[in-house]
Amino acid sequence: MKKILVVGGGTGGTIVANVLARKLSRKEAEITVVSESPKHIYQPAFIYTALGYNLHERDIVRGEEELLDKNVKLIIDNALRIDVEDRYVVLERTGKLDYDYMVIATGSRIVPEEVPGYQATYHFYGLEEANRLSKALEEFSGGVIAVGIGGIPYKCPPAPAEFCCLLDYYFTRKKIRDKVEIHYLSPLPRTFPHEAVAEAITEMMEKKDIHWHPMFNIESVDPEKRIVYSLEGESLRFDLLVMVPPHRGAKVVEESGLGVDGGWIPVDKHALQYKDYSEVYVIGDATNLPVSKSGAAAHFEAKVVGDRIYADITGKKSKPVYDGRVLCFCDAGFRKAIYMDFNYEKPPRKPRFSYLWYLGKQAVNKLYWSLILKGIV
Ligand SMILES: Cc1cc2nc3c(=O)[nH]c(=O)nc-3n(C[C@H](O)[C@H](O)[C@H](O)COP(=O)(O)OP(=O)(O)OC[C@H]3O[C@@H](n4cnc5c(N)ncnc54)[C@H](O)[C@@H]3O)c2cc1C
Repeated sequence: MKKILVVGGGTGGTIVANVLARKLSRKEAEITVVSESPKHIYQPAFIYTALGYNLHERDIVRGEEELLDKNVKLIIDNALRIDVEDRYVVLERTGKLDYDYMVIATGSRIVPEEVPGYQATYHFYGLEEANRLSKALEEFSGGVIAVGIGGIPYKCPPAPAEFCCLLDYYFTRKKIRDKVEIHYLSPLPRTFPHEAVAEAITEMMEKKDIHWHPMFNIESVDPEKRIVYSLEGESLRFDLLVMVPPHRGAKVVEESGLGVDGGWIPVDKHALQYKDYSEVYVIGDATNLPVSKSGAAAHFEAKVVGDRIYADITGKKSKPVYDGRVLCFCDAGFRKAIYMDFNYEKPPRKPRFSYLWYLGKQAVNKLYWSLILKGIV
């Protein structure tokens, strides 16, 4: 019987464990997920929380235990160290766990404190912070709102542009849109990494009178003067600043010496294996792959890794590979959204805003819990 250890019970970790539990019997494998929290949080819901949507609690948070196949053992504990040489992980309370296969799915963490003056900013990269932003927006009666980025890479590349479009919708519904100036501080020369998508988003922003500033990577904030400065030497005065905080790899990854440049783990872009350790896989935000840090990437990677470990254990010769696939919806407000589906080889085409994709986004929000996390789709 093989011991499979999954470190991290977020999107990627939950899917890979469920895929494996469906394919392998208890006699073939013992599957364990280690996660520091008993709660599983659906992070895309943070944007809606910040904008005051009346979500049901179960649309945002559920117990991890209820999401895992009954053949998966869940340990709620904090992984302190990962030793790939001797194949074990040290947990804070449980002690040492060894493995035959390990999947690292520890995601990313945010470090707003790396930006001087961050105390004057708001963000939607955590539930508490999204609630705090929601209150600030409720009280906002007019002025300049800037939405910028404190460091690359960050989770869900379209999120800040999407948030600007949804702010336009929010203040239109509040009937004070004419009193609010929305500014998008893009860290790139365009509004989105992919040129064809950027074209569509720029057109949408111009239609909505959202001012966008190219090459504005936030360097610091002056809380007294309420001015945000960019690495490129630009500045903007604001009344409310929403800053996507800088991200880094998980602490355990950095402290175990597995991460490079920001704590992201280098992996083979197709096999998703860590260096020459064929029994160690890494998925989701934790990797240094040139794909979006997104639930969609974590989902596709988890399915590939589940199938690879299954093939290994059952002696199958051919193993699937990850082709870099990411798909993504971006809500523009007024019940319109765009959809993108791309991979390492095929960049996205210019998307169209439509009601259909808005419905698609709503469907994903629901299917996340019932089908996606189970690894069924
Ligand atoms: C506002 C917002 C909007 C988003 N919108 C979208 C979207 O529309 N579409 C999309 O595809 N993605 C979106 N994302 C991104 C998506 O949520 C993440 O990319 C995805 O959750 C990554 O999955 P993961 O498994 O790599 O990490 P996570 O889901 O973050 O899971 C990591 C897990 O590891 C655990 N962990 C970390 N360290 C330890 C440790 N030392 N010991 C034990 N456990 C540990 C954590 O507790 C967590 O459970 C959004 C994110 C945000 C914040």
